Amino acid sequence: MHSKLDCLFCKIVNGDIPAEIVYESDTALAFRDINPQAPIHVLIIPRQHIATINDIADAHQSLVGSLYSAAREIAEAEGIAADGYRAVMNCNAAAGQTVFHIHLHLLGGRPLGWPPG
Ligand code: 5GP
Ligand code: ZN
Repeated sequence: MHSKLDCLFCKIVNGDIPAEIVYESDTALAFRDINPQAPIHVLIIPRQHIATINDIADAHQSLVGSLYSAAREIAEAEGIAADGYRAVMNCNAAAGQTVFHIHLHLLGGRPLGWPPG
């Protein structure tokens, strides 16, 4: 279950499934969400398969940190840095995680309510 062999986002990393890529680094990749919830909705993922936040190990600290560096750069490039945006990661079913390869949702371009649903 949740193996990298049948992981949708690993297939995007490998180029087996197309995506509108907006950012690439040695460790991370970002692409537009297929079902955007805001004018800007980008998913930032590590190239390495990590299923959920619960599977993040101490050795992944710089890798996970690099997702936030990507968020900062993409927000700047997309023109939402000054107004503000949200960078959020869902974990498991109760939070609505549907793809089990960690991804930071970068959302912006409209006012975002709090608390989220
Ligand atoms: P989650 O619910 O796991 O936090 O977020 C998964 C996200 O992946 C959803 O926002 C969904 O719209 C997006 N998504 C699912 N399948 C695809 C796909 O094939 N391509 C892209 N670009 N996004 C996808
Ligand atoms: Zn994966």
